[in-house]
Amino acid sequence: MLDGNDRQWLNRISAHSAGAILLNQAKERLDRETLENFAFLLQEDGALVVWGSPDGLDEVFTVRHHAATDLYLAGTIDAPVADASIPVPKRQAVFSPSFPAMIATWAIQALSRQGDLVLGIGTIRGVVADVCRQSHRKGLELAGQTLKVEPPDGGWEGYPELTNEECLARFQTKWVKNENGCHIWQGKPDQDGYGRYSAIGVQYKAHRYAYCAEFGPLNPVLTLGHECVVRLCVNPYHLHAEPQEDNTAEMWRDKRLRERAK
Ligand SMILES: [Zn+2]
Repeated sequence: MLDGNDRQWLNRISAHSAGAILLNQAKERLDRETLENFAFLLQEDGALVVWGSPDGLDEVFTVRHHAATDLYLAGTIDAPVADASIPVPKRQAVFSPSFPAMIATWAIQALSRQGDLVLGIGTIRGVVADVCRQSHRKGLELAGQTLKVEPPDGGWEGYPELTNEECLARFQTKWVKNENGCHIWQGKPDQDGYGRYSAIGVQYKAHRYAYCAEFGPLNPVLTLGHECVVRLCVNPYHLHAEPQEDNTAEMWRDKRLRERAK
């Protein structure tokens, strides 16, 4: 949920000033109070865009489920977003390979105007900030934190390395935080540009270990995308899980990495 720093930000935003608010990993983040805050912040024709199926959304907003994208579009109660009239782009038509990032790009451009304030909340926030910079919206990032998933007593079955204290402590000595909040892995990158970490003999990509230590074991069919497009980043809150196919267009990320390095 939102932390104290986020609340300070929210207090500084005028009522009805946001053209769009985008939320990812919504299930863990949305409670009624937060939703009501958002309803208050949105312009009359503003859009709330939510991934997942958030409980309680219907009580505060008029919600339309968009089956093609499994996305929930919500306007304020008085001015629901007419999502049926908005064409949703085909995946390959947009430059981002990440599905949430693609929809964020589309949603910002389709649902807000230049100069609008757009809030990005959850793991999508870095993408929102980037798209806003490129498309002349005022992007604001909120909610850098999500809740850690506590392991069951005795740890995750079959994954002792995720709760082993030595492994966890040693991992924390191997990264340095940068000005964007990225945890930059200090070890040698592998051939794909990712960090590697060995935990009681189990070889991990470093960012995957960070994610699993925070949120529990990850289904092997899922891969992790970096919202911050920094492959050496091991901040679990800059990562989102996605099906393998969503993470294959690495060229886009490479391009962005090169841009950042300039
Ligand atoms: Zn990062």
